[in-house]
Amino acid sequence: MKYLSTRSTSTAPTERKRFCEILLEGLAPDGGLYLPETYPQVDAGTLARWREVYGASGYADLAFEILSLYIDDIPAADLRSICRKTYTETVFGAKEIVPLKELEPGLYLEALSNGPTLAFKDMAMQLLGNLFEYELARRGEEINILGATSGDTGSAAEYAMRGKKGVRVFMTSPLGRMSPFQQAQMFSLMDENIHNIAVDGVFDDCQDMVKAVSNDLVFKRKYKIGTVNSINWARLMAQVVYYFAGYFLATVSNTEKVSFTVPSGNFGNVCAGHVARMMGLPIARLVVATNENDVLDEFFHTGVYRVRTSADTHETSSPSMDISKASNFERFVFDLLGRDAAKTQDLFGGQLSEKGRFDLSGDPAFKGASQRYGFVSGSSTHADRLATIRQTFEKSGAMIDTHTADGLKVAREYLQPGIPMIVLETALPIKFAQTIVEALGREPDRPARFVGLEAMPRRVTRMAADVVQIKSYIAAHCG
Ligand SMILES: *Cc1c(COP(=O)(O)O)cnc(C)c1O
Repeated sequence: MKYLSTRSTSTAPTERKRFCEILLEGLAPDGGLYLPETYPQVDAGTLARWREVYGASGYADLAFEILSLYIDDIPAADLRSICRKTYTETVFGAKEIVPLKELEPGLYLEALSNGPTLAFKDMAMQLLGNLFEYELARRGEEINILGATSGDTGSAAEYAMRGKKGVRVFMTSPLGRMSPFQQAQMFSLMDENIHNIAVDGVFDDCQDMVKAVSNDLVFKRKYKIGTVNSINWARLMAQVVYYFAGYFLATVSNTEKVSFTVPSGNFGNVCAGHVARMMGLPIARLVVATNENDVLDEFFHTGVYRVRTSADTHETSSPSMDISKASNFERFVFDLLGRDAAKTQDLFGGQLSEKGRFDLSGDPAFKGASQRYGFVSGSSTHADRLATIRQTFEKSGAMIDTHTADGLKVAREYLQPGIPMIVLETALPIKFAQTIVEALGREPDRPARFVGLEAMPRRVTRMAADVVQIKSYIAAHCG
């Protein structure tokens, strides 16, 4: 399997890369995102075998089957042991790894949030940690991961990379802006290779610092700076697996169809659903759910993609979906346009940076978004989240978090008789306790291993939003 950039118009073989070449990279040099040259097709026989594999040997072996189609430069035995080391009942708390909870007949939650940091990002990040360690050891190299987080990504990255050989993490976050639980989760890590940096500023200040460091190519090379942000192909690929697993759990036969609803921000999670569907998984609809930051919902309704400024990005009670532009969206648009790289370059490299928007409403391809690719969308508000959390708790006794509530609210608008609807549970309520208290008048359930978390000793460095300071901090803590 070879990978190409969404903006590469050249068909030269040198423009095609193998999995391990893009594993440690972010954007392609031309500014595009990597995608496989073709989507491997899963025929009826393979799908039947995979159902068996998941039922009999488990999620790790299912992951191996799927990943093998995308990775041909890691020996099979090694890849299988990486999968088995990653997806264990000990780490994810259930034998199925992603068990389904039935809320009512035909409506399910798929539990993706029982990993170390209680958000779905662990599903991919835990694998990434093991893949990084493997590949760096093989090359005899090191990497310093520099990132900015407003919550879930940073903690998932730190818990995936803690104690890993050859990897250091420098994670910036806006001082005092994450939920108390999220702060405690990150700052209580005592591992030598994990560096928490609390920045006097907002998330955008953190992001700007990271960008400034990454744009200094000399510094970047010298200190082997890398990232693990949501555009990383390996993360997306790892997420494809739980669409298959969810399908097998919700159906008894491979002739059935299901739909998925995905609480969305950067379009990474639902893009993995798109890839699963392109491989042939019988998915009827992919429902994109947004909060008040409805960039994606607007696109699927109008064909206009209009990114927001940071001033126009609302701070909501589902903060991990507070995005102004969806960094993975280019992958889907590339497919939507019949993989026309020149057009993708014009939209994302040209129109979007010049005018902050593009308009596909008059393009015949836009109709295909829902007819051909199954995409529909909806949005929700703070009041919707409160009502959904309350109703769900009263009706079924299930306590859901604010992001999952965005999903469930929108899912209900797209239920179809005879087609199971699976809502992806992207975080547990304990991460966003304040809104749960507002909705239910009580504290959310706390998994036993997190009792006393906020009282643990902390390891965090406070810093001004200053590029010079972060560079010297990195230089002082490398090697
Ligand atoms: C990251 C995140 C999302 C958004 O996922 P994308 O892949 O960015 O669309 C939704 N919910 C939670 C809890 C998250 O952490």
